[in-house]
Amino acid sequence: MSRRRLSQQQQKRIRQNQAQRGDSNAHPQGRVVSHQGGQLLVELARGSLVECRIKSNLGSIVCGDRVAIEATAQKVHRVIAILPRDNLLQRVDGFGQTRAIAANISQLIVCLAISPEPNLYLLDQYLVSAEQQRIAACILLNKIDLADNDPDPFGLRKIYLPLDYPVIHSSVKTGAGMDEFSRLLPGEVSVLGGVSGVGKSSLTSWLLPGEEIKIASISSANEEGRHTTRASRLYVLPSGGELIDTPGVRGFSPFIDDSRPLAHGFREIRDLAGACRFHNCLHLNEPRCAVIAAVSTGAIAESRYASYLKMLEQRKTT
Ligand code: GDP
Ligand code: ZN
Repeated sequence: MSRRRLSQQQQKRIRQNQAQRGDSNAHPQGRVVSHQGGQLLVELARGSLVECRIKSNLGSIVCGDRVAIEATAQKVHRVIAILPRDNLLQRVDGFGQTRAIAANISQLIVCLAISPEPNLYLLDQYLVSAEQQRIAACILLNKIDLADNDPDPFGLRKIYLPLDYPVIHSSVKTGAGMDEFSRLLPGEVSVLGGVSGVGKSSLTSWLLPGEEIKIASISSANEEGRHTTRASRLYVLPSGGELIDTPGVRGFSPFIDDSRPLAHGFREIRDLAGACRFHNCLHLNEPRCAVIAAVSTGAIAESRYASYLKMLEQRKTT
């Protein structure tokens, strides 16, 4: 009898553990496609959408999260577990707290523009953040119509193409480069990052002609719309691929994980690190540092090295 009771308890525990991990076939699984406040829309594997609440103490759930759900007595279902994530894009808010933006994305498109002028340090922070999360990154320089036919404004192609980051010039206004931009998207789950004013909303509404996306020129009169709570959404693009658009992503400060070696976030520094005299070289001022040597010959761009030093400094002070 007691053996039987124990085994039932064990079975219950196993069921609970499975539900916690979300790997139980007993629970339907799906992906979060909309999130606003505590309200989620989850797309089930078979394509239908269900409205869900979140079980307390699950931590933050974001668009792109794969989840296990259970039916409740009410019509609304409940998310009971977040399945393991491939990656998590996070930002740092004004109070220094990290906040999740989107999960399981495959591509971060860092949007820059001719105006406002690109901040290369912020760009490098996005790229480091993407490297750490194993998210492919590409650079989109928008408003190319304002570039006076300069073939490489701000030297972005010179710096980033050798590092295998695609650099695309686009203009929502004239349509230049928009084909190239849309070719980035099929088969990917993409997020557009970048500061306010570079054209992310314009690019998004170009991709989603039927959707209502607020664009600065429409809402700038009283900045209305900048502060309203918008849902985070995962859109299926008519041209193929998916796009996660969230209010948090607009102009976000990327989170950089200080527990990982910073050099791993810089492709060209990572590639050279084994060539330094000291295996734990920080590439600051150590003798026979291959990275410093590469900066002096121009093989590593000065702006990239400056970003590296600044991020290293940030690490020390936080
Ligand atoms: P967001 O803040 O990044 O979402 O930027 P918006 O999409 O709201 O665009 C900011 C401003 O730039 C708006 O006035 C847009 O009309 C304008 N804009 C967007 N794309 C282009 C472009 O390719 N060329 C030019 N000249 N202006 C653009
Ligand atoms: Zn070194």
